[in-house]
Parts: sequence; C-alpha cells; structure tokens
Amino acid sequence: MHICVVGVGYVGLVTGTCFAEFGNDVVCVDNDPDKIDMLRKGEMPIYEPGLKEMVAKNVREGRLRFTQDLEEGLKKALVVFIAVGTPEGEDGQADLKYVWQVGRSIAETMDDYKVVVTKSTVPVGTGRKLAKVIRENQKRPIEFDVVSNPEFLREGSAIEDFMRPNRVVIGAETERAKAIMRDLYRPLYLIETPFVITDIATSEMVKYASNAFLATKISFINEMANICERVGADVNVVAKGMGLDQRIGPKFLHAGPGFGGSCFPKDTSAIAKLARNHDYTFRIVEAVMAVNRDQRKVMVQKIQNALGGELEGKVIACLGLTFKPNTDDMREAPSIDILSALMEQGATVRAYDPVGMEEAAKIDKLKGLVYCEDAYHAMEEADGLVIMTEWNQFRNLDWARVKKSMRGKVVVDLRNVYPPRMVREEGFEYHSVGRP
Ligand code: NAD
Repeated sequence: MHICVVGVGYVGLVTGTCFAEFGNDVVCVDNDPDKIDMLRKGEMPIYEPGLKEMVAKNVREGRLRFTQDLEEGLKKALVVFIAVGTPEGEDGQADLKYVWQVGRSIAETMDDYKVVVTKSTVPVGTGRKLAKVIRENQKRPIEFDVVSNPEFLREGSAIEDFMRPNRVVIGAETERAKAIMRDLYRPLYLIETPFVITDIATSEMVKYASNAFLATKISFINEMANICERVGADVNVVAKGMGLDQRIGPKFLHAGPGFGGSCFPKDTSAIAKLARNHDYTFRIVEAVMAVNRDQRKVMVQKIQNALGGELEGKVIACLGLTFKPNTDDMREAPSIDILSALMEQGATVRAYDPVGMEEAAKIDKLKGLVYCEDAYHAMEEADGLVIMTEWNQFRNLDWARVKKSMRGKVVVDLRNVYPPRMVREEGFEYHSVGRP
C-alpha cells in the first residue's frame, strides 16, 4: 500500500518507518527543511533506539522516502497520516493549528480518494471538523474518509511499541475506510494484536482517557510517597504490594519527580479543558495536574533540606535531564523546573545526560547549567548528587570514584534507583522518594 505520513517527529518518523518495514511504500513529509535534509543524509533528527538502522534499511530497499513536498507525498498515497504536533495552547486546550494547516493542504492537493488519518493526539470533535476543513478547501469534490488512529508508543521503546502494540484503536465512519485500515494493519492482526474499531469520537477519547489514567497512577503513587515519608513506610514496597493485584498492575507506580514529556502534561490539560468547555469539571484530572506541579516543588525542597537548607554557593551534580531514559526529548521534563529553582537559589548545577544535553541547551530556564562530559565529571567538587533520570548507566555508579570526585556526601535519588542501605554503607547521606 502507498502511504504518506505528514510530520516527521517522534511519532511520524516511527510510524512511517514501521509501515515501510511492514512492506508498504511510504513517503514522509515535513515542512522543516533541516529535518528532511538530515533524514536524506541518513542522520536522525531525534534519538530513538534502533530507529537509525531501520530507517537506513527501508530507504536502501526503496520503501521509504523523505520530502518537504506534500504533493509528492500524496500523489500515490491511499492513506495519509497526520502526525504533526498538537501542543498545549494558551488556555490549556490542544492547539490544532498544524492539524488544520495540513488538512487544508491535503484538501488542495489531493486528486483521488484518500483515507486521512489523525495519528496526532486530538480532542474529541477534531475528526469531524477535519472532514469539514477538507471538504471546504477542495478545489472540486473528491471522495475521502477521515479516520482516527491514536498512537500509544512510548519514546525510548517506540519501535517495539509500534510493532507489538497492546492494541490498535481505529475510529472510522465508513466500511471502506475500516477495510483499508484493517488491511494496512494486517501484520499486527497476524500476531493477534487486539483491535478496537469504533466511531471517530470514541477513538479520539480512548487516547485521552488512557493518558489521563496513566498520569493519575503517577500522581497517585507520588502522593502515596509523600505520605509514606511522613509515616515511615516504603513506597516501593507499597507499589509492589499494590501492583501484584491484577486489577491494579505494576506499571506506572514508580514514585519520583512527577510526569513530564510531550504527552501527559498537555493531554491531561487538554482533557480537563475539553470537560470544562462542556460544563464539566474533571476533578480527578485537575487534582492529578496539581499534584504533579507540586511534586516538582517537593523535590526542590527535598534537595534543599538534604543540603542543609541553604543553596547559595553550593555545587550540585545532576545525572540525567530528559523526562525519562532512552530519549533526547526535554519537553516538560521535571528537570527544567527543579534545576532552575535550585539555580535561582544560588546553586551551581553541573549536569550530564547521555543524549539530552543538546536539547536542554535550547531551554531558556536552564541557562546557566554547566554541561559535563560524563557522570563523574559532573560530580567534581559537588556538595550533592541528584539522580534525575534513571538512565541504565547511572544504575551502577562506582561509589569509590563518586566519593573521590565529590566534595560532599549527599545523594538525592529522585528515581529510587538504589537500595538506601547500600549507598549509606558506602558512606553517603542518601535520600530518595517515599522510602524511610
Ligand atoms: P514532534 O513535535 O516531534 O513532531 C511533529 C512534526 O510535525 C515536526 O517535525 C514538525 O516540523 C512537523 N510539522 C508541523 N507542521 C507541519 C506541516 N504543516 N507540514 C508538515 N510537517 C509539519 O511531535 P511528536 O512528539 O511526534 O507528536 C506528534 C503527535 O503525536 C502529537 O499530537 C502527540 O501528542 C502525539 N503522540 C506523541 C507521542 C510521543 O511519545 N511523542 C506518543 C503518542 C502520541
């Protein structure tokens, strides 16, 4: 099948590449000339494990191409995926300007039947409105269908998530569109992936419901951690004890600095705003967002307390900057608020992240951060060490070397990577989240 993917970001590039891997002919379109240039040279504009090799293979075998020209992308395509960003707008709702832009361009360019699929996360009602936008901007009436097919991949394991998803959700209004989508996803049918085929509005809602629920689990366990600290219980064991209940499940019950990234913050905000627009207060999600905002302050306070209260003149080493490991994505990373608050109080922060430093350097609030060559370089002369992101390489630090590099002995592990007793036995003052 011929496919066009518009928007070559974390989702679009993985989607396009994986559909090519399934044997389809894929053209990826982006209006960012630098991204297209890089991709044509075989360089990746994002860091995602395994992606570079898979892109190279599919380009070499002639199934994957990159262009800035939507007309070229649409020419043969039967299915067009819209995978552009839907960032948070000023009032909290999803800003859909890129979706409408692409919708209008598709309308003006198409000259035969297309299935236009929203892969981007879009609020309920977008599919219906997109159909209207396309209809109104066509030069002459040409048949098309709009389909919702939200994406659930996680950065850092995006390829595996795309190739072996827990489920595929498709919202469509015509049998023709449903049949085409089923055909496209046949390789996943064959490995018995569950399919949820429904109407467009419901499909759009599944994505927000899923992200809001996952964010709820995170804020829940973070509040539980805050309570555990007050009563002397261990949140890791609480999470394990809860998670073994199959009705609850063990995932997303890791206490820490709160959720970040390009999805949960904006999607919780968008669903809360959508509800408010319909005269309903989504109280749980409003609370989830408030807890998440506060959790960053709780972490700043924790670091400050661990360092004796006064941060002026202190040197803090920070391991990890991205919102989670295995990605270079810095969007809404908790490190941004936490480290900027530490710097505002007069601390010098020396940071190291295996792949996130280039993105971090573009963020205004992180101006002043000292970027280091590796974890031990970051620790030089530090009074305290903060583990911000649980990259694998920070899970086995050489504590003798840490001791030699640092000036102080304070370790604040915001990801509960280490057993407290082990680090204390190495001679450090160890603090973590929700553990005695
Ligand atoms: P991104 O910012 O990484 O990529 C978006 C791309 O769209 C950019 O390359 C941009 O240049 C391009 N673009 C914007 N306007 C365009 C236009 N008019 N024509 C062509 N290209 C255009 O975004 P992302 O992280 O890939 O997210 C895309 C969507 O997928 C969002 O709605 C997001 O919520 C959703 N989503 C993201 C993830 C994730 O983990 N990142 C997971 C699931 C769903």
